[in-house]
Amino acid sequence: MTDLKTDNFQRPIISLRISITNRCNIRCFYCHHDGIIPQEYEMTPPEIERISIIAKNIGIRKIRLSGGEPLIRDDIVDIVKKISSLGFQDVSLTTNGTLLEKYALPLKNAGLNRVNVSFDTLKPETYRFITKSNYLEHVQKGIEKAVEVGLYPVKVNMVVMKGLNHQEIWDMFQFCKEKGVILQIIELLEAESCPDSDFFDDYHYDIGIIEEELREKATDIKTRAFMQDRKKYFLEGGEIEVVRPMDNTEFCKNCTRLRITPDGKLKPCLLRNDNLVDLIEPMRHGASDEKLEKLFLEAIKNREPYYGGC
Ligand code: SAM
Repeated sequence: MTDLKTDNFQRPIISLRISITNRCNIRCFYCHHDGIIPQEYEMTPPEIERISIIAKNIGIRKIRLSGGEPLIRDDIVDIVKKISSLGFQDVSLTTNGTLLEKYALPLKNAGLNRVNVSFDTLKPETYRFITKSNYLEHVQKGIEKAVEVGLYPVKVNMVVMKGLNHQEIWDMFQFCKEKGVILQIIELLEAESCPDSDFFDDYHYDIGIIEEELREKATDIKTRAFMQDRKKYFLEGGEIEVVRPMDNTEFCKNCTRLRITPDGKLKPCLLRNDNLVDLIEPMRHGASDEKLEKLFLEAIKNREPYYGGC
């Protein structure tokens, strides 16, 4: 296996998060679009495959597909099949779950290992308020299907928002335990790619309050060293993972992820768009694998912890 590359802050680059589209079928008011300023271009499956091959050549071990909504692409199964045939340690996907019931089995058969489903509330009205849609039941069925076909682990991503769903965490935990999935609670983040930032002061909720409660109740706590120092709390026969990116130097210090935008630009940091490295134009103009590997290394060199502290 190729050695891992490290950036100038001794952080190994383990995973690549490929945003395969900016399009989405729901409209979450807080969405940061994976830090990407919306544009309309998308890469083809062979282009995504070639990028994945280069990623593998420079030592990247894991691929996650995201967006926009990755399942909105008609060729999603083909994309997953192409990537998973390359022999990565892990191929996963983050989805809003609205189309997961239909796609869970074909994706599993295409080689997908696991899935994270964004699901912030069990209440239809709150779901409608957040997403401007009525897909709550579709998402629940999608989660059930993902578990049934053997995607593992299935995680629920719940962005916690003050007054909107922060009182629902324990209900969501029960739901997750019943379904056999892991709950991942995420602190609301303010990013330049959010449609507007007015929501932040209204809805930001300090997850530290929940972490204190979790620390008291947990029978075991683990830290995911190469996963932005995230904490996993084991309690009452279930598991809750906590993601706190905002102003978090440990989060940045332990970030091992490179990203790629839907229009084929390497993105060294979720929160920045001023240090992207274009991969697709050189690729479309016949760049060799060596040249593309150099562009990956340039993007890795551009990586800096957004919240200092390394
Ligand atoms: N459409 C897919 C989905 O809904 O999961 C993938 C894209 S979405 C941008 C990826 C993840 O980012 C989701 O889990 C979502 O909840 C999270 N997210 C989006 N905006 C956020 C924000 N402002 N703060 C924290 N997490 C956010």
